[in-house]
Amino acid sequence: MQKNETAVIEITDIGVNGEGIGKIDGYTLFVKDAVIGDKVEVKVMKAKKNYGYARLMRVIEPSADRVEPRCAFARKCGGCQIQEMSYERQLAFKEQKVRGNLERLGGFEREMLDQVMEPIRGMDNPFGYRNKAQFPFGTDKEGNPVTGFYAGRTHDIIANTDCALGVPVNQEILEIILDFMKAEGVPAYDEKTGKGLIRHVLIRYGFTTKEIMVCLVLNGRKVPGVEGLVKKLTAIDGMTSISISPNTRQTNVIMGDAYEVLWGQGFITDYIGNVRYQISPLSFYQVNPVQTEKLYSQALEYADLKGGETVWDLYCGIGTISLFLAEKAGQVYGVEIVPQAIDDARKNAEINGITNAEFFVGKAEEVLPEYYEDYARQHGGEKARADVIVVDPPRKGCDQALLETIVKMAPGRVVYVSCDSATLARDLKYLCGEGYVLEKVRPVDMFPETVHVETVVRLQRKHT
Ligand code: SAH
Repeated sequence: MQKNETAVIEITDIGVNGEGIGKIDGYTLFVKDAVIGDKVEVKVMKAKKNYGYARLMRVIEPSADRVEPRCAFARKCGGCQIQEMSYERQLAFKEQKVRGNLERLGGFEREMLDQVMEPIRGMDNPFGYRNKAQFPFGTDKEGNPVTGFYAGRTHDIIANTDCALGVPVNQEILEIILDFMKAEGVPAYDEKTGKGLIRHVLIRYGFTTKEIMVCLVLNGRKVPGVEGLVKKLTAIDGMTSISISPNTRQTNVIMGDAYEVLWGQGFITDYIGNVRYQISPLSFYQVNPVQTEKLYSQALEYADLKGGETVWDLYCGIGTISLFLAEKAGQVYGVEIVPQAIDDARKNAEINGITNAEFFVGKAEEVLPEYYEDYARQHGGEKARADVIVVDPPRKGCDQALLETIVKMAPGRVVYVSCDSATLARDLKYLCGEGYVLEKVRPVDMFPETVHVETVVRLQRKHT
């Protein structure tokens, strides 16, 4: 195939980024926004020797799995990738993605995976699930302020205040801010020139408490006439925290380093299970609270705690898994590289009266080996105790030095929470070569309409 050539193809497979895959005379074409089962007309945009990328021009016969996207901007926006696929099909795709990686990259046999894989945990309503949104501001051709989302892989703003993944109140807040900017002549920030004031707005919503936070990210420190804006925002039911965060650097980092409260308090409160969290504008917090609870419950079930166990929670963030497990464990140790997250973890333990969780700042691959060595040195060669080790690493997976220490500490169970099943498969292959058995695998859909999938895994140490 050549660039600009058109063809009619059937989509027979789906790629890792949710794109449709079809073949024409053995030549593979990747087609964004095409769904398995579609018969489509495509135009080749980029042609390599054996494969190419094509644009979807027309759906000739839609797949039975094709649905009308909820959002008018689903194809353009970089946020969702698979809104045109029925939710059932999305779940099947994600389950298959995890299974495929475990098979190909982990070397686990198909029959064995049939035994250990549990069905993916999806959502009843796969929209409106995000408790956090960060909307960029810009200026349209007529000079009016706009807000919405970046088009895929660009910084062009698509004006849209009605994101299908967010909560309904987002739209109300955004319209108030846009009206204010127009009325007061407050300009949006311009990335290219570094001029203008309003960069982003961060909105957070506590699903259980219904508390709302608004934080304006500014290229400066003050918004002229801000009292009028605050007055309008405080009329919204549930408004709890209004703040600004100055960020005058020319950078893609959204938030500034600090924030200043304009009205109300500096945080909102929310719950995961029985644990209460205070969430400030700069805190990390899971964005899908409904599924987070399912994810942690799954981790808890796999940890199978009886009450006296020593548990390590590595890559613990603000300690959410640690605190969730602390109720059922003897002692929990959390390790996290970001110091502010550990401050939050300690504070969250305190406000919940949890006294059996201790937190360490540092790299998991350094803190755990050092703890292990120090313990042996101080206790005449005795091994530091670990009954269960939970890991929840970023996409790149666990560091090899950490995996080696886990094997040395030999906990009875390892619970692996993963956001990338390729690195999960790699790490499981190692652990299963070092005395562990893969007992359970359960994907959890934390991000419907996107290609991402989380997985919780239970490993049991072989009896020796
Ligand atoms: N378990 C938490 C966070 C998981 S995200 C939750 O469920 O909310 C992964 C976390 O690992 C992030 O907070 C990141 O800052 C942290 N991290 C990244 N590299 C790390 C390392 N080498 N050692 C410890 N923590 C690390």
